[in-house]
Amino acid sequence: MGKFSIHPLVDNGVAVHAHAGFAGGTLVCKCKTDPVEVRVDSDYKFNHLCGCTQCWKPTGAAFSMLAAVPREAVHVTKHREKLKIVDPGKLLHRYACKDCGVHMYGVIEKPDHVFHPFAFIHPELSRDSGYAAPTFAAFVSSAIEGGISPDDMAWLRGRLKELGLAPYDCYSPELMDIVATHAAKAQGTLHA
Ligand SMILES: [Zn+2]
Ligand SMILES: [Zn+2]
Repeated sequence: MGKFSIHPLVDNGVAVHAHAGFAGGTLVCKCKTDPVEVRVDSDYKFNHLCGCTQCWKPTGAAFSMLAAVPREAVHVTKHREKLKIVDPGKLLHRYACKDCGVHMYGVIEKPDHVFHPFAFIHPELSRDSGYAAPTFAAFVSSAIEGGISPDDMAWLRGRLKELGLAPYDCYSPELMDIVATHAAKAQGTLHA
């Protein structure tokens, strides 16, 4: 495994295997009884690891696993009453199960925000397999804020590369371009 757990689904090699035509599944929280269920009618896109301190992580893991889906593809199908927003003061409203603490999905309510059309989910909660493996790790330096020693960062970045997960300290270049394109259109620099 290494010096510490990056995420249980990558610690011993990436244990996520895409099936062609995967079109969504049901996310289930960790409650033994009456779990919250969220149906997602979409492929899970931009699957990646995130080192920030806000995303939900499995116990002992330094990173979360996170993907984006169209927000209208997310449907709470069981035990909506157990969901509450972790911190309504944050830009991303993360809906978590009150009992087990797992974050089921997150959305941004600001209509002009670049990520407003999306909901962010944790693919590992999916009862249905076949979603694409993570391809990069975002906010890697933030792992230090999460408790990883700065001395272990060289090992961490090396291990992520070995796993085929390009390490970035913000988003991947593809996502950064989406963010910058949105900003350039909003400023009028770039015409739609
Ligand atoms: Zn729960
Ligand atoms: Zn995060």
